[in-house]
Amino acid sequence: MSIITGTTSTTSTPSEVERAEARTAHNYHPLPVVLAHGEGAWMTDVEGRRYLDLLAGYSALNFGHSHPRLVAAAHSQLDKLTLTSRAFIHDAFADFCAALGDLCGKELVLPMNTGAEAVETAIKVSRKWGYDVKGVPADQARIIVAGGNFHGRTTTIVGFSDDPDARDGFGPFTPGFDMVPYGDLAALEAAITPHTVAVLIEPIQGEGGVIIPPEGYLRAVREVCTREDVLLAADEIQAGLGRTGRTFACDHEGVVPDLYVLGKALGGGIIPVSAVVGNRDVLGVLKPGQHGSTFGGNPLACAVGHEVVDMLATGEFQARATDLGLVLRERLDALVGHGLIAVRSRGLWAGVDIDPTLGTGRQICERLMERGVLAKDTHGSTVRFAPPLVITDEDLHWGIDQLAAVLG
Ligand SMILES: *Cc1c(COP(=O)(O)O)cnc(C)c1O
Repeated sequence: MSIITGTTSTTSTPSEVERAEARTAHNYHPLPVVLAHGEGAWMTDVEGRRYLDLLAGYSALNFGHSHPRLVAAAHSQLDKLTLTSRAFIHDAFADFCAALGDLCGKELVLPMNTGAEAVETAIKVSRKWGYDVKGVPADQARIIVAGGNFHGRTTTIVGFSDDPDARDGFGPFTPGFDMVPYGDLAALEAAITPHTVAVLIEPIQGEGGVIIPPEGYLRAVREVCTREDVLLAADEIQAGLGRTGRTFACDHEGVVPDLYVLGKALGGGIIPVSAVVGNRDVLGVLKPGQHGSTFGGNPLACAVGHEVVDMLATGEFQARATDLGLVLRERLDALVGHGLIAVRSRGLWAGVDIDPTLGTGRQICERLMERGVLAKDTHGSTVRFAPPLVITDEDLHWGIDQLAAVLG
Protein backbone atom coordinates (compact mmCIF):
# COMPACT_ATOMS: atom_id res chain seq x y z
CA MET A 1 0.00 0.00 0.00
CA SER A 2 1.44 3.34 -0.95
CA ILE A 3 0.26 6.83 -0.25
CA ILE A 4 -0.85 8.54 -3.45
CA THR A 5 0.85 11.89 -3.69
CA GLY A 6 -0.35 14.84 -5.64
CA THR A 7 -3.99 14.28 -4.76
CA THR A 8 -3.91 15.82 -1.31
CA SER A 9 -5.04 19.34 -0.66
CA THR A 10 -4.34 21.56 2.31
CA THR A 11 -7.83 20.93 3.67
CA SER A 12 -7.97 19.26 7.05
CA THR A 13 -10.56 16.64 7.92
CA PRO A 14 -11.98 18.31 11.06
CA SER A 15 -12.50 21.65 9.34
CA GLU A 16 -14.18 20.06 6.31
CA VAL A 17 -16.45 17.97 8.54
CA GLU A 18 -17.37 21.08 10.49
CA ARG A 19 -18.00 23.15 7.36
CA ALA A 20 -20.16 20.41 5.86
CA GLU A 21 -22.18 20.12 9.08
CA ALA A 22 -22.64 23.87 9.34
CA ARG A 23 -24.14 24.38 5.91
CA THR A 24 -26.12 21.24 5.09
CA ALA A 25 -29.34 19.69 6.28
CA HIS A 26 -28.51 16.85 8.64
CA ASN A 27 -30.35 14.15 6.73
CA TYR A 28 -27.18 12.01 6.79
CA HIS A 29 -24.73 11.05 9.53
CA PRO A 30 -21.58 10.37 7.50
CA LEU A 31 -18.42 8.87 8.89
CA PRO A 32 -15.93 11.69 9.56
CA VAL A 33 -13.79 11.07 6.50
CA VAL A 34 -13.35 13.62 3.70
CA LEU A 35 -12.53 11.95 0.41
CA ALA A 36 -10.75 13.55 -2.49
CA HIS A 37 -9.80 10.79 -4.90
CA GLY A 38 -10.92 7.35 -5.97
CA GLU A 39 -9.54 4.64 -8.19
CA GLY A 40 -10.76 1.07 -8.41
CA ALA A 41 -11.62 -0.12 -4.92
CA TRP A 42 -9.56 2.56 -3.19
CA MET A 43 -10.26 6.11 -2.09
CA THR A 44 -7.88 8.73 -0.72
CA ASP A 45 -8.88 11.40 1.77
CA VAL A 46 -7.82 15.04 1.91
CA GLU A 47 -4.88 14.15 4.11
CA GLY A 48 -3.56 11.43 1.85
CA ARG A 49 -4.86 8.45 3.85
CA ARG A 50 -6.10 5.54 1.73
CA TYR A 51 -9.26 3.56 2.33
CA LEU A 52 -10.60 0.37 0.86
CA ASP A 53 -14.17 1.03 -0.27
CA LEU A 54 -16.38 -1.83 0.92
CA LEU A 55 -19.64 0.05 0.27
CA ALA A 56 -19.21 1.05 -3.36
CA GLY A 57 -21.82 3.78 -3.17
CA TYR A 58 -24.48 1.27 -2.12
CA SER A 59 -23.68 -0.67 -5.34
CA ALA A 60 -23.64 2.44 -7.54
CA LEU A 61 -19.89 1.83 -7.92
CA ASN A 62 -20.00 -1.83 -8.97
CA PHE A 63 -17.20 -1.11 -11.45
CA GLY A 64 -15.15 0.81 -8.92
CA HIS A 65 -14.03 4.41 -8.95
CA SER A 66 -12.93 5.93 -12.24
CA HIS A 67 -13.15 2.78 -14.33
CA PRO A 68 -11.14 3.70 -17.45
CA ARG A 69 -13.84 2.49 -19.87
CA LEU A 70 -16.57 4.45 -18.14
CA VAL A 71 -14.49 7.59 -17.74
CA ALA A 72 -13.53 7.42 -21.42
CA ALA A 73 -17.16 7.02 -22.46
CA ALA A 74 -18.14 10.02 -20.33
CA HIS A 75 -15.27 12.18 -21.57
CA SER A 76 -15.95 11.47 -25.19
CA GLN A 77 -19.66 12.26 -24.82
CA LEU A 78 -18.92 15.44 -22.80
CA ASP A 79 -17.09 16.83 -25.80
CA LYS A 80 -20.01 16.18 -28.14
CA LEU A 81 -23.45 16.66 -26.63
CA THR A 82 -24.69 16.50 -23.03
CA LEU A 83 -28.37 17.40 -22.98
CA THR A 84 -31.19 17.72 -25.46
CA SER A 85 -34.28 16.94 -23.34
CA ARG A 86 -36.64 14.33 -24.72
CA ALA A 87 -38.25 16.99 -26.92
CA PHE A 88 -35.63 15.85 -29.45
CA ILE A 89 -33.86 12.58 -30.14
CA HIS A 90 -30.08 12.37 -29.77
CA ASP A 91 -27.67 9.95 -31.37
CA ALA A 92 -26.74 8.02 -28.20
CA PHE A 93 -30.35 7.29 -27.22
CA ALA A 94 -31.51 4.42 -29.41
CA ASP A 95 -28.29 2.42 -29.02
CA PHE A 96 -28.39 2.64 -25.23
CA CYS A 97 -32.06 1.67 -25.02
CA ALA A 98 -31.60 -1.25 -27.42
CA ALA A 99 -28.52 -2.51 -25.54
CA LEU A 100 -30.23 -2.27 -22.15
CA GLY A 101 -33.40 -3.86 -23.49
CA ASP A 102 -31.32 -6.74 -24.87
CA LEU A 103 -29.47 -7.18 -21.57
CA CYS A 104 -32.86 -7.52 -19.87
CA GLY A 105 -34.45 -9.59 -22.65
CA LYS A 106 -37.18 -6.96 -22.93
CA GLU A 107 -38.59 -4.86 -25.75
CA LEU A 108 -38.79 -1.37 -24.26
CA VAL A 109 -36.77 0.90 -21.99
CA LEU A 110 -37.94 3.99 -20.13
CA PRO A 111 -34.89 5.91 -18.90
CA MET A 112 -35.02 8.09 -15.80
CA ASN A 113 -32.32 9.42 -13.45
CA THR A 114 -32.53 8.31 -9.83
CA GLY A 115 -33.73 5.03 -8.41
CA ALA A 116 -36.71 6.61 -6.69
CA GLU A 117 -37.86 8.04 -10.03
CA ALA A 118 -37.62 4.61 -11.61
CA VAL A 119 -39.71 3.15 -8.77
CA GLU A 120 -42.27 5.96 -9.19
CA THR A 121 -42.30 5.18 -12.90
CA ALA A 122 -42.95 1.49 -12.25
CA ILE A 123 -45.83 2.45 -9.93
CA LYS A 124 -47.38 4.75 -12.54
CA VAL A 125 -46.95 2.20 -15.34
CA SER A 126 -48.46 -0.56 -13.20
CA ARG A 127 -51.48 1.55 -12.33
CA LYS A 128 -51.98 2.65 -15.94
CA TRP A 129 -51.69 -0.97 -17.08
CA GLY A 130 -54.22 -1.92 -14.44
CA TYR A 131 -56.78 0.54 -15.76
CA ASP A 132 -56.10 0.25 -19.49
CA VAL A 133 -55.35 -3.48 -19.80
CA LYS A 134 -56.56 -5.35 -16.72
CA GLY A 135 -59.73 -3.30 -16.43
CA VAL A 136 -59.45 -2.18 -12.81
CA PRO A 137 -62.04 0.56 -12.02
CA ALA A 138 -60.64 4.11 -12.00
CA ASP A 139 -58.50 5.02 -8.98
CA GLN A 140 -58.91 1.58 -7.39
CA ALA A 141 -55.54 0.04 -8.28
CA ARG A 142 -53.56 -1.58 -5.48
CA ILE A 143 -49.91 -2.57 -5.33
CA ILE A 144 -48.46 -5.16 -2.96
CA VAL A 145 -45.15 -4.33 -1.27
CA ALA A 146 -43.04 -6.18 1.29
CA GLY A 147 -42.29 -5.39 4.91
CA GLY A 148 -38.77 -4.12 5.41
CA ASN A 149 -38.68 -2.68 1.91
CA PHE A 150 -36.52 0.17 0.73
CA HIS A 151 -37.52 1.71 -2.59
CA GLY A 152 -36.39 5.33 -2.19
CA ARG A 153 -37.35 8.58 -0.56
CA THR A 154 -40.24 10.26 -2.36
CA THR A 155 -43.43 10.90 -0.40
CA THR A 156 -45.27 8.10 -2.20
CA ILE A 157 -42.44 5.63 -1.63
CA VAL A 158 -41.83 6.38 2.06
CA GLY A 159 -45.59 6.09 2.53
CA PHE A 160 -45.31 2.34 1.97
CA SER A 161 -42.18 1.88 4.07
CA ASP A 162 -42.43 0.37 7.56
CA ASP A 163 -39.23 2.07 8.75
CA PRO A 164 -40.32 4.82 11.18
CA ASP A 165 -37.24 6.94 10.36
CA ALA A 166 -38.10 6.91 6.68
CA ARG A 167 -41.80 7.48 7.18
CA ASP A 168 -42.76 9.31 10.35
CA GLY A 169 -43.51 12.99 9.94
CA PHE A 170 -43.94 12.92 6.18
CA GLY A 171 -47.62 12.04 5.77
CA PRO A 172 -50.27 12.20 4.44
CA PHE A 173 -49.32 9.38 2.14
CA THR A 174 -50.44 8.06 -1.22
CA PRO A 175 -53.07 5.32 -0.81
CA GLY A 176 -53.18 2.08 -2.78
CA PHE A 177 -50.41 -0.04 -1.22
CA ASP A 178 -50.74 -3.28 0.75
CA MET A 179 -47.84 -4.59 2.80
CA VAL A 180 -47.10 -8.27 3.39
CA PRO A 181 -44.20 -9.87 5.27
CA TYR A 182 -41.17 -10.40 3.02
CA GLY A 183 -40.71 -14.05 2.12
CA ASP A 184 -44.25 -15.09 3.14
CA LEU A 185 -45.92 -16.46 0.02
CA ALA A 186 -49.26 -17.29 1.66
CA ALA A 187 -49.61 -13.71 2.94
CA LEU A 188 -48.88 -12.36 -0.52
CA GLU A 189 -51.42 -14.62 -2.14
CA ALA A 190 -54.03 -13.67 0.45
CA ALA A 191 -53.43 -9.96 -0.18
CA ILE A 192 -54.24 -10.17 -3.88
CA THR A 193 -57.62 -8.75 -4.86
CA PRO A 194 -59.17 -8.16 -8.30
CA HIS A 195 -57.83 -4.59 -8.01
CA THR A 196 -54.22 -5.66 -7.46
CA VAL A 197 -52.10 -4.48 -10.39
CA ALA A 198 -48.57 -5.26 -9.25
CA VAL A 199 -46.23 -6.76 -6.71
CA LEU A 200 -43.28 -4.43 -6.18
CA ILE A 201 -40.43 -6.26 -4.54
CA GLU A 202 -36.67 -6.31 -4.00
CA PRO A 203 -35.33 -9.78 -4.92
CA ILE A 204 -32.89 -9.22 -2.03
CA GLN A 205 -33.46 -6.44 0.50
CA GLY A 206 -30.26 -4.40 0.56
CA GLU A 207 -31.09 -1.61 3.00
CA GLY A 208 -32.93 -4.18 5.08
CA GLY A 209 -29.54 -5.80 5.74
CA VAL A 210 -29.03 -8.03 2.68
CA ILE A 211 -32.09 -10.10 3.48
CA ILE A 212 -32.45 -13.06 1.11
CA PRO A 213 -35.95 -14.55 0.86
CA PRO A 214 -36.47 -18.31 1.28
CA GLU A 215 -35.41 -20.49 -1.64
CA GLY A 216 -38.21 -20.72 -4.18
CA TYR A 217 -40.06 -17.63 -2.92
CA LEU A 218 -39.43 -15.40 -5.93
CA ARG A 219 -40.26 -18.20 -8.32
CA ALA A 220 -43.55 -18.79 -6.49
CA VAL A 221 -44.31 -15.04 -6.49
CA ARG A 222 -43.75 -15.06 -10.23
CA GLU A 223 -46.20 -17.95 -10.63
CA VAL A 224 -48.83 -16.29 -8.47
CA CYS A 225 -48.50 -13.00 -10.37
CA THR A 226 -48.89 -14.76 -13.71
CA ARG A 227 -51.90 -16.74 -12.50
CA GLU A 228 -53.63 -13.70 -10.97
CA ASP A 229 -52.86 -11.31 -13.84
CA VAL A 230 -50.69 -9.11 -11.63
CA LEU A 231 -47.44 -7.48 -12.77
CA LEU A 232 -44.20 -8.41 -11.06
CA ALA A 233 -41.98 -5.33 -10.71
CA ALA A 234 -38.52 -6.27 -9.44
CA ASP A 235 -36.58 -3.46 -7.80
CA GLU A 236 -33.07 -4.51 -8.86
CA ILE A 237 -31.63 -1.06 -8.19
CA GLN A 238 -29.16 -2.34 -5.60
CA ALA A 239 -29.25 -6.10 -6.20
CA GLY A 240 -28.93 -6.02 -9.97
CA LEU A 241 -26.21 -5.41 -12.55
CA GLY A 242 -23.68 -7.99 -11.44
CA ARG A 243 -23.67 -7.55 -7.67
CA THR A 244 -24.96 -11.02 -6.79
CA GLY A 245 -22.95 -12.91 -9.39
CA ARG A 246 -25.71 -12.77 -11.99
CA THR A 247 -26.88 -9.87 -14.10
CA PHE A 248 -30.04 -9.71 -12.01
CA ALA A 249 -30.74 -11.14 -8.57
CA CYS A 250 -33.96 -12.61 -10.06
CA ASP A 251 -31.75 -14.78 -12.31
CA HIS A 252 -30.83 -16.96 -9.32
CA GLU A 253 -34.37 -18.32 -9.37
CA GLY A 254 -34.84 -18.17 -13.11
CA VAL A 255 -37.43 -15.44 -12.58
CA VAL A 256 -38.23 -12.87 -15.25
CA PRO A 257 -40.25 -9.95 -13.87
CA ASP A 258 -42.61 -7.90 -16.01
CA LEU A 259 -40.71 -4.77 -15.06
CA TYR A 260 -37.06 -4.46 -14.16
CA VAL A 261 -36.46 -1.37 -12.04
CA LEU A 262 -32.81 -0.38 -12.40
CA GLY A 263 -30.56 2.38 -11.13
CA LYS A 264 -27.38 2.81 -9.10
CA ALA A 265 -24.67 0.89 -11.06
CA LEU A 266 -26.39 1.72 -14.35
CA GLY A 267 -24.75 5.15 -14.06
CA GLY A 268 -21.28 3.68 -13.62
CA GLY A 269 -20.75 5.76 -10.48
CA ILE A 270 -20.52 8.82 -12.72
CA ILE A 271 -24.00 10.12 -13.36
CA PRO A 272 -27.46 9.14 -12.09
CA VAL A 273 -29.02 6.75 -14.61
CA SER A 274 -32.11 4.69 -13.87
CA ALA A 275 -34.61 2.87 -16.02
CA VAL A 276 -37.73 0.77 -16.10
CA VAL A 277 -37.47 -2.04 -18.61
CA GLY A 278 -40.37 -4.17 -19.84
CA ASN A 279 -42.28 -5.43 -22.80
CA ARG A 280 -44.55 -3.47 -25.11
CA ASP A 281 -47.74 -4.91 -23.59
CA VAL A 282 -46.87 -3.17 -20.29
CA LEU A 283 -44.60 -0.16 -20.97
CA GLY A 284 -46.59 0.52 -24.12
CA VAL A 285 -49.47 1.87 -22.01
CA LEU A 286 -47.73 5.24 -21.69
CA LYS A 287 -48.58 7.80 -24.34
CA PRO A 288 -46.93 11.17 -25.05
CA GLY A 289 -47.39 13.64 -22.23
CA GLN A 290 -48.26 11.03 -19.60
CA HIS A 291 -44.81 10.68 -18.05
CA GLY A 292 -41.39 12.23 -18.48
CA SER A 293 -38.17 13.66 -17.11
CA THR A 294 -36.06 16.56 -18.37
CA PHE A 295 -32.80 14.74 -17.75
CA GLY A 296 -33.99 11.16 -18.29
CA GLY A 297 -32.08 9.48 -21.10
CA ASN A 298 -29.75 12.42 -21.66
CA PRO A 299 -26.73 11.91 -23.93
CA LEU A 300 -24.17 11.70 -21.14
CA ALA A 301 -26.33 9.24 -19.20
CA CYS A 302 -26.85 7.12 -22.32
CA ALA A 303 -23.14 7.08 -23.16
CA VAL A 304 -22.16 5.93 -19.68
CA GLY A 305 -25.14 3.60 -19.31
CA HIS A 306 -24.38 1.98 -22.65
CA GLU A 307 -20.79 1.32 -21.60
CA VAL A 308 -22.09 -0.24 -18.36
CA VAL A 309 -24.38 -2.51 -20.36
CA ASP A 310 -21.52 -3.51 -22.70
CA MET A 311 -19.33 -4.33 -19.70
CA LEU A 312 -22.06 -6.50 -18.20
CA ALA A 313 -22.79 -8.23 -21.49
CA THR A 314 -19.51 -10.19 -21.31
CA GLY A 315 -20.38 -11.78 -17.95
CA GLU A 316 -16.91 -10.98 -16.66
CA PHE A 317 -18.07 -8.87 -13.71
CA GLN A 318 -20.78 -11.34 -12.76
CA ALA A 319 -18.13 -14.08 -12.69
CA ARG A 320 -15.87 -11.96 -10.48
CA ALA A 321 -18.77 -11.35 -8.09
CA THR A 322 -19.38 -15.09 -7.89
CA ASP A 323 -15.73 -16.02 -7.34
CA LEU A 324 -14.88 -13.24 -4.91
CA GLY A 325 -18.24 -13.77 -3.23
CA LEU A 326 -17.09 -17.26 -2.23
CA VAL A 327 -13.96 -15.76 -0.67
CA LEU A 328 -16.00 -13.11 1.14
CA ARG A 329 -18.43 -15.71 2.44
CA GLU A 330 -15.75 -18.10 3.63
CA ARG A 331 -13.90 -15.37 5.47
CA LEU A 332 -17.07 -13.97 7.08
CA ASP A 333 -18.37 -17.40 8.08
CA ALA A 334 -15.11 -17.95 9.95
CA LEU A 335 -15.93 -14.88 12.07
CA VAL A 336 -19.29 -16.20 13.21
CA GLY A 337 -18.90 -16.79 16.93
CA HIS A 338 -15.91 -14.44 16.90
CA GLY A 339 -17.76 -11.14 16.82
CA LEU A 340 -20.33 -11.93 14.19
CA ILE A 341 -23.69 -13.45 15.00
CA ALA A 342 -24.93 -14.09 11.47
CA VAL A 343 -23.82 -13.71 7.87
CA ARG A 344 -26.08 -13.40 4.83
CA SER A 345 -24.57 -13.08 1.38
CA ARG A 346 -25.08 -13.58 -2.29
CA GLY A 347 -22.28 -12.88 -4.72
CA LEU A 348 -20.08 -10.02 -3.58
CA TRP A 349 -22.72 -8.66 -1.23
CA ALA A 350 -23.01 -9.45 2.45
CA GLY A 351 -24.88 -8.31 5.53
CA VAL A 352 -23.37 -9.28 8.85
CA ASP A 353 -24.94 -8.98 12.26
CA ILE A 354 -22.42 -7.83 14.84
CA ASP A 355 -22.37 -9.18 18.38
CA PRO A 356 -23.99 -6.19 20.15
CA THR A 357 -21.64 -6.49 23.12
CA LEU A 358 -18.85 -5.33 20.79
CA GLY A 359 -20.61 -2.11 19.87
CA THR A 360 -23.13 -0.79 17.37
CA GLY A 361 -22.77 -1.20 13.64
CA ARG A 362 -21.82 2.46 13.52
CA GLN A 363 -19.01 1.96 16.05
CA ILE A 364 -17.68 -1.01 14.12
CA CYS A 365 -17.66 1.14 10.96
CA GLU A 366 -15.80 3.89 12.80
CA ARG A 367 -13.16 1.40 13.93
CA LEU A 368 -12.92 0.01 10.41
CA MET A 369 -12.39 3.53 9.11
CA GLU A 370 -9.47 4.00 11.50
CA ARG A 371 -7.95 0.90 9.94
CA GLY A 372 -8.51 2.13 6.39
CA VAL A 373 -11.75 0.36 5.48
CA LEU A 374 -15.00 2.14 4.63
CA ALA A 375 -18.27 0.31 5.19
CA LYS A 376 -21.78 1.27 6.29
CA ASP A 377 -24.03 0.06 9.03
CA THR A 378 -27.72 -0.43 8.52
CA HIS A 379 -30.41 -1.02 11.14
CA GLY A 380 -28.41 -0.95 14.38
CA SER A 381 -26.05 -3.86 14.53
CA THR A 382 -25.87 -4.86 10.86
CA VAL A 383 -22.98 -3.93 8.59
CA ARG A 384 -23.22 -4.28 4.84
CA PHE A 385 -20.29 -5.16 2.59
CA ALA A 386 -20.60 -4.44 -1.11
CA PRO A 387 -17.07 -4.04 -2.48
CA PRO A 388 -16.60 -2.83 -6.05
CA LEU A 389 -16.60 -5.90 -8.29
CA VAL A 390 -13.12 -4.89 -9.50
CA ILE A 391 -11.58 -5.42 -6.04
CA THR A 392 -8.60 -7.78 -6.03
CA ASP A 393 -8.58 -11.01 -4.10
CA GLU A 394 -5.69 -9.67 -2.01
CA ASP A 395 -7.47 -6.41 -1.14
CA LEU A 396 -10.63 -8.28 -0.21
CA HIS A 397 -8.65 -10.48 2.17
CA TRP A 398 -6.97 -7.42 3.64
CA GLY A 399 -10.35 -5.75 4.18
CA ILE A 400 -11.70 -8.78 6.04
CA ASP A 401 -8.47 -8.96 8.06
CA GLN A 402 -9.31 -5.45 9.29
CA LEU A 403 -12.81 -6.56 10.23
CA ALA A 404 -11.40 -9.53 12.12
CA ALA A 405 -9.02 -7.21 13.97
CA VAL A 406 -11.84 -4.81 14.86
CA LEU A 407 -14.00 -7.66 16.14
CA GLY A 408 -11.16 -9.44 17.88
C1 LIG B 1 -31.04 3.03 -3.56
C2 LIG B 1 -32.31 2.33 -3.82
C3 LIG B 1 -33.43 3.00 -4.33
C4 LIG B 1 -33.46 4.49 -4.52
O1 LIG B 1 -32.49 4.94 -5.41
P1 LIG B 1 -32.08 6.50 -5.39
O2 LIG B 1 -31.18 6.64 -6.59
O3 LIG B 1 -31.37 6.76 -4.10
O4 LIG B 1 -33.33 7.28 -5.52
C5 LIG B 1 -34.55 2.25 -4.62
N1 LIG B 1 -34.58 0.92 -4.43
C6 LIG B 1 -33.52 0.24 -3.92
C7 LIG B 1 -33.61 -1.24 -3.75
C8 LIG B 1 -32.35 0.92 -3.60
O5 LIG B 1 -31.33 0.25 -3.08
